[in-house]
Amino acid sequence: MFLNSQDNHSADNFFMRRCIQLAANGEGLTWPNPMVGAVVVYDGRIIGEGWHHKAGEPHAEPNAIHSVKDQTLLCKSTLYVSLEPCSHYGKTPPCADLIIEKRIPRVVIGCADPFPSVCGRGIEKLRSAGIEVSVGVEQEECLLLNRRFFTFHKLQRPYIVIKWAQTEDGFIDHLRTSPSEAPLKLSDGYTSLLVHKLRAQSQCIMVGSRTQYLDSPRLTVRNWPLYGTRQPEKAVMSRSLGDLKTYLHALYEKNVQSILVEGGSSLIDSFTGQDLWDELQVETAPLAIGQGHSAPKMPDTDGCRTFTLKTTGNHTITSFVRIP
Ligand SMILES: [Zn+2]
Repeated sequence: MFLNSQDNHSADNFFMRRCIQLAANGEGLTWPNPMVGAVVVYDGRIIGEGWHHKAGEPHAEPNAIHSVKDQTLLCKSTLYVSLEPCSHYGKTPPCADLIIEKRIPRVVIGCADPFPSVCGRGIEKLRSAGIEVSVGVEQEECLLLNRRFFTFHKLQRPYIVIKWAQTEDGFIDHLRTSPSEAPLKLSDGYTSLLVHKLRAQSQCIMVGSRTQYLDSPRLTVRNWPLYGTRQPEKAVMSRSLGDLKTYLHALYEKNVQSILVEGGSSLIDSFTGQDLWDELQVETAPLAIGQGHSAPKMPDTDGCRTFTLKTTGNHTITSFVRIP
């Protein structure tokens, strides 16, 4: 792909969007690390690409840099990377050192790293080596890509996804009192697959004690094996639990990066009532039941990114995502 070098602004955006695409190849596999993508551009053309595949394996920058066939071009190229390069020794040597060693003259970064041992230091190290650094290209998209990682580090609590399924007239179930009565089936084959994917992206799944008593849900990710065999932990929340914020901070200390709250309504209302949520996913099934167990109250979603998905079976999933 060639781009006019006069049009630097849109070229930067274009190449950063490619970084984000590459980064997403690591979805579900890089935890607890973020997803990161990088491209090397010489004379308006991509000559190297890479992304972070898995925690413990090389970062996106060395993967992109080492993929360049003619290494003599690096000292005349620009490196694009969706997240600030690291400057500390982790499981791999610092990427900032490699960039300096390869004498890459310009680096464009999507967003700074919130991780305390990286934040700003990678950028500083590159600049003090005389490299031209631009930060904040496609920043909002880069933040959204790693919203779990950013929220976890910035707010020192897990990223909170709340999901429920409801009828068109706003019920999540029949009025049931005993586990012997079958629950109302709201998801179709495709949307229940997406629920398994959502679970696979979480380290912990929470349900209220009513849901646990009536349904004893398995809450497994058996239909989404693409992220490996790790199963999320299951937590049953009772009213006696006490302060949610204290509980969430304890999960942060246990390195739980994201949680999924699957209901029922009173548990969800207690999260949204304290403004403790980052993402809502509401599935609406094409049926009405007239009476039943009411859906959770919809919180104020102003300022959220909204995504809508309609299935062939006329189920609609609307997601409201806060930008971290
Ligand atoms: Zn790195």
